[in-house]
Amino acid sequence: MRIGKNAVVAIEYHLTDPQGQVIDSSRGKEPLSYLHGVGGIIPGLESALEGKGVSDEISVDIAPDQAYGQKDPGLVQAVPRASFKGVDNIQPGMQFQAQGPSGQARVVTVISATPTEVTIDANHPLVDVTLHFDVKVISIREATPEELSHGHVHGAGGHHH
Ligand code: ZN
Repeated sequence: MRIGKNAVVAIEYHLTDPQGQVIDSSRGKEPLSYLHGVGGIIPGLESALEGKGVSDEISVDIAPDQAYGQKDPGLVQAVPRASFKGVDNIQPGMQFQAQGPSGQARVVTVISATPTEVTIDANHPLVDVTLHFDVKVISIREATPEELSHGHVHGAGGHHH
């Protein structure tokens, strides 16, 4: 079987930035399972894996427009210090989990802080970064009807209900 729409694919991946720093890796852990063709992984990686088979290995550089995009200046904003109840010492570089407009979790990074105001950047930490992926395909199977209706993988490496 080859990777195509509605396949459940397990991959081993190793992600580095252009300086060779490791951003994320599944080496020594469970492989990542994802449902192919529904945008569950970044577009550039999904298209690089299209048509590949078990044991195939790929090594690709993915530009920001096929990964996490470019920085949106509109996502840098000042919020009242009072929004950070219970946090005593806010420093530039600190990261917090926040709720995005449609309820999804997103990471915001503190740019600067005054006693009354905190400037945060809600861009994804990997905007503007060209990503290098080394990926090995571990397994491929057909998605179940239930997985297709949920739009994600169940079982090992996937969601549990
Ligand atoms: Zn589900």
